[in-house]
Amino acid sequence: MANDSVKRYLPDMDIGELEEFLTGIGQKKYRAKQIFSWIAKGAVDFDEMTDLSLQLREELKLLACISCLNIRKKLESAIDGTVKYLFELDDGNVIESVLMEYNHGYTACVSSQVGCKMGCSFCASTISGFRRNLTAGEILEQILAMQRDHGIKVSNVVVMGIGEPFDNYDNVIKFLRLANSHHGLNVGYRHMTVSTCGLVPGILRFADEGFQANLAISLHAPNDRIRAKLMPVGRKYRIDKIIGASKIYTEKTNRRIMFEYALIEGVNDSLENAAELAFLLKGLLCLVNLIPINPVKGTSYRQSRRTRTEEFAALLREKGIETTVRRELGSDINAACGQLRHREISSGKPADPVWGTETGQRRGKCGQ
Ligand code: SAH
Repeated sequence: MANDSVKRYLPDMDIGELEEFLTGIGQKKYRAKQIFSWIAKGAVDFDEMTDLSLQLREELKLLACISCLNIRKKLESAIDGTVKYLFELDDGNVIESVLMEYNHGYTACVSSQVGCKMGCSFCASTISGFRRNLTAGEILEQILAMQRDHGIKVSNVVVMGIGEPFDNYDNVIKFLRLANSHHGLNVGYRHMTVSTCGLVPGILRFADEGFQANLAISLHAPNDRIRAKLMPVGRKYRIDKIIGASKIYTEKTNRRIMFEYALIEGVNDSLENAAELAFLLKGLLCLVNLIPINPVKGTSYRQSRRTRTEEFAALLREKGIETTVRRELGSDINAACGQLRHREISSGKPADPVWGTETGQRRGKCGQ
């Protein structure tokens, strides 16, 4: 477990930290790269690390652990093959991750926190509350576990699962670096996307990291009045500040920003709203991604009609704003943010694992 007091959780470590750990137990530095690569290849047991001596493997078993995620539930979409995983962490908390197949390969959508503090009124992650931040290794392990389970290699990573990545800034940045390492997953920054609800200081810090990752900003409204109703964070960081920070991000990284806009009938989907949005984004290196809102139990929000979605998109395009309408992946399996976790928690009892304890494939627990 990441905060286990006895065993060190190795997926949290970069190569430098692994070197320090290994030299601290009297081992040679070069072992660090070997272990780092094994973890990235999805090893969950030190015995898989066949180029380490038996003695070292036994020692490592006593001192360290390399896996703290177990698959508690797995749902596969009959429509498009999207797979949603509900993972259980060592402390009993659950998080969600999603594996999606696009033409260019597999995309992993990972959670950055257990729950979320941001309080967006349309989001299921909010309803279930905030528990804690995930460590860099716990974010990384979501990808490793999905790759291993599905027998594939992920080529794109999106930090768009449960949580607000910039509310867990340092761990998310460390995760991106770990995933980028050519000794590890070797995913290029241009193939990574971080999605924020608009924490301006986070956007500005991210602009200075020096990597060309993609930034997505959940805007969902063309003005502060509507936005503050949907997203409490909108009261703290106003849209003009978000646009200002976005400009800086595009200038420093030369990357186009994706603005996410979930269309909600009668709330933010009028053609006046579209015109206002177009005016706001004029001249910015950006793309608008219109998302049909995924209705969440307990809210009265409804999806905009298809014709309205098309009109909204057409108006934006007419005004020169590049616009896409998101394909709804995994709509039959609660693939929208936090919905599976919310359902699981509110049902009060853990669901039967579809893959796990009974089959003996439960992953090695830290601290055991
Ligand atoms: N906290 C980050 C990332 C997590 S949410 C953020 O806010 O960007 C990933 C995306 O899903 C965000 O754009 C979020 O606003 C959106 N989302 C959340 N609940 C949704 C729902 N019910 N329907 C459609 N999109 C939703």
